[in-house]
Amino acid sequence: MTAYMDHKNLANESIDETRARQIADGVHRVLDGIAAAEQASGRAVGEVRLLAATKTRDVGEIMAAIDAGVRMIGENRPQEVEVKAAGLARLCARRGFALGADALARDAVADASDAGTDLPDPLAPLPFHLIGQLQSNKINKVLPAVTAIESVDSLDLAAKIARRAVTHGVSVGVLLEVNESGEESKSGCDPAAAHDLACAIAQLDGVRLEGLMTIGAHVDDEATIRRGFAHLRATRDAVLASGEPGTADCRELSMGMTGDMAIAIDEGSTIVRVGTAIFGPRAFI
Ligand SMILES: *Cc1c(COP(=O)(O)O)cnc(C)c1O
Repeated sequence: MTAYMDHKNLANESIDETRARQIADGVHRVLDGIAAAEQASGRAVGEVRLLAATKTRDVGEIMAAIDAGVRMIGENRPQEVEVKAAGLARLCARRGFALGADALARDAVADASDAGTDLPDPLAPLPFHLIGQLQSNKINKVLPAVTAIESVDSLDLAAKIARRAVTHGVSVGVLLEVNESGEESKSGCDPAAAHDLACAIAQLDGVRLEGLMTIGAHVDDEATIRRGFAHLRATRDAVLASGEPGTADCRELSMGMTGDMAIAIDEGSTIVRVGTAIFGPRAFI
């Protein structure tokens, strides 16, 4: 278990008004920044979706972001999914959202109905992604909760996820993570292998290939960051154009974080994953 989880109760549901206002301001700033970047790059406003990266944040902080307009969340660690999922799903249901995979949303609705809450029908889906590394012994932990796993970087991992999904009788979205920067600290497959790997994953039963994901180069040079994003986009375009079985839904480009969001949007991002600009600096990790 990661040390910071001993210092912070991630299942906590109540935060004070000042903190809630800080988070709401962060969400509004980021949404404005996305719209400005869309306009600056000649894209239609609303094309890019915001995923709030919620690692180290508690349930109350995450709900404050949802109350301010966040409509997709992403966790890094299966343990955090496990600690937060039920509370988040219950509070989402009360607000008219079905969080994550069917099993999670269904339990949340049952919970809320037991409590005598009148729920809107139908609930609007609120996607829940895993964006951090997944060890195969944690797959069963996240499958009932998440709608997509963005950190798939090998055929072996994809096949294991697919096999477990078939056993659970579900289908889960996957994005192929590509290490465009080549930085050793980063996970993700070799960019040169990404096209063929995506086509192979697309054929597996139990997973739906929804797109590609990358973490931008950790450098100051904008051209270097941009080159990685542009290559991810070219790879996505080639996978879509291949006509290979199962590739027709490979549309998403999950790229761009707090520091490089505008560059990613200019290069065609469809999902930006933002943590710090919404919630402030992380106290842990
Ligand atoms: C933490 C994280 C983010 C968000 O990073 P910020 O710089 O805080 O916006 C995005 N993607 C992944 C995979 C992350 O782990």
